[in-house]
Amino acid sequence: MGITGPLNAWDVPYLSEKLKEARYSFSEQEVKQYFTAPKVLAGLFKIIETLFEVSIRADQAPVWHPAVGFYRIEREGQLVGQFYLDPPARAGKRGGAWMDDVRGRWQRPDTGVLQTPVAHLVCNFAEGVNGQPALLTHDDVITLFHEFGHGLHHMLTQVNERDVSGISGVEWDAVELPSQFMENFCWEWSVLRHMTAHVETGEPLPRALFDKMLAAKKLPKTACKPCAKSSFRCSTCWCTQNTTRCKTSCRCSHKCATRWP
Ligand SMILES: [Zn+2]
Repeated sequence: MGITGPLNAWDVPYLSEKLKEARYSFSEQEVKQYFTAPKVLAGLFKIIETLFEVSIRADQAPVWHPAVGFYRIEREGQLVGQFYLDPPARAGKRGGAWMDDVRGRWQRPDTGVLQTPVAHLVCNFAEGVNGQPALLTHDDVITLFHEFGHGLHHMLTQVNERDVSGISGVEWDAVELPSQFMENFCWEWSVLRHMTAHVETGEPLPRALFDKMLAAKKLPKTACKPCAKSSFRCSTCWCTQNTTRCKTSCRCSHKCATRWP
């Protein structure tokens, strides 16, 4: 540890940090080898389908870039909602991750036809290299689940009044509930086992590595590096200062008083 002689009080914070590093540290590079984008997305869709008794499949619509996917959500063969998914970063694309509505669910008073909701979900994940699929950090995965929480809130609504259906008209202290709910699955072993596959071996995330991630999650951080991520913009609060993304990834109390709830 680099300390010789008697241990002094002022050595404790330093040694404490060293101990944490030795006991819990893991390389983000090591972790992301297991989070291949197609496997993560398939795992996410499976969770949604199981939890909400829906099915998700690719759909057709004009898109703004070849990387954008368009999907439909059905329940018992009935269209429930549709969404655009634009995961990769590229030149000229706005940074951060967000969900927003394209249109809301609405029982049209003029025709009586039910307009189904449409959302778009946008992220900025690194693309794959050398022909390999994109590899996501665990934080990327949390971001994806977070935005899908907002998306599901919007698309699975059963309210027919446009002004209060989906994410419309939701109080600010409630709007992050679905996104935080979905984030929790990123820390469930039974979930991660089935949505990870090492990019070369296909092996799921090792339990030992997951335990390290979990242990590190519970530790307070001494430095507020994640606050550099405060440019993340939550789709519904539009705040770029210490948004929920920062709340999620930043475990210290730096500036937390001003962050979005
Ligand atoms: Zn959010």
